[in-house]
Amino acid sequence: MVEKIYVTYNDVHKLCQEAAPKILSSFRPQLIIAIGGGGYVPARILRSFLKQPGSPNIPIQAIGLSLYEQLPVTDLANTSTGAVDKIGTKVTRTQWLDLSSLGEIQNLVGKRILIVDEVDDTRTTLEYAVKELEKDVEAARQKMGSHAEKTQFSIFVLHNKDKQKKGTLPVDMIEESRYLAARTVGDEWICYPWEATDIDAHDDLAKKAASKNGTA
Ligand code: 5GP
Repeated sequence: MVEKIYVTYNDVHKLCQEAAPKILSSFRPQLIIAIGGGGYVPARILRSFLKQPGSPNIPIQAIGLSLYEQLPVTDLANTSTGAVDKIGTKVTRTQWLDLSSLGEIQNLVGKRILIVDEVDDTRTTLEYAVKELEKDVEAARQKMGSHAEKTQFSIFVLHNKDKQKKGTLPVDMIEESRYLAARTVGDEWICYPWEATDIDAHDDLAKKAASKNGTA
C-alpha cells in the first residue's frame, strides 16, 4: 500500500517561512508564477515572507496545467489513425499568463521569476512550465534585440519526491541553486490540506502520524 503523508496548513506555512530567507538570499524574485491549483496557497504564504519593508508585494500570476495520462491508442474508441501511441504523459494548459495585468510579455524580459508548485513528482509539469515560459519570454527578448538581459527562472516546491524523474530542468537552474524543495520525501502520496473535505479528520491523521513517528 502506498504510504500517505498528511500535511497541515500549519506545516505548509512553516515550510514557506523556512524557505523564504533562502529564496531571498539567493534569488529575490520580482514575480511569482503559481502553478494551479497546488501552487496557489504556498505562493500566497511565501509572498508574505518575501515582502521587504518599503517594497511593494511581489505580484502573483497563476497558470493552470493539467497532466493527463495518455492511454495507448488501441484502448481509445474512435481512433482515426490506428497508430499505437507510447504510453506517456501530456500536459495541457488550462490557464496562462494574464497579459492584461502584466502588460506585454516584454515586461518579463530580464526579470527574476519564481515558479511555485506544491510537489515535484515526475517533474513533467515543472519541465513543461519552465520550457513554455522560457520560450515565450525568449521570443519577446529576441524581438527587443540582443542587448536585452535574459530572464531568470527559479522553482520552489514544498515537496520533491526522490525518484526517477520523467521531466528535466535546465542544468544551470540546478547548478545555480535556483531549484528549492522545502522537503525531499520518498515516493509517497502527499495529502495537502486544501484537498481535504474534512479538515479536522485530515489534521487528526497528521497528528497521529506525527506522534507515531515521534515528531509531534
Ligand atoms: P508531476 O508528476 O508533473 O511532477 O506532478 C503533477 C501533479 O500531480 C502535481 O502538480 C500534483 O498536482 C499531482 N501530484 C503528484 N504527486 C502528488 C502527491 O503526492 N499528492 C498530491 N496531492 N498531488 C500529487
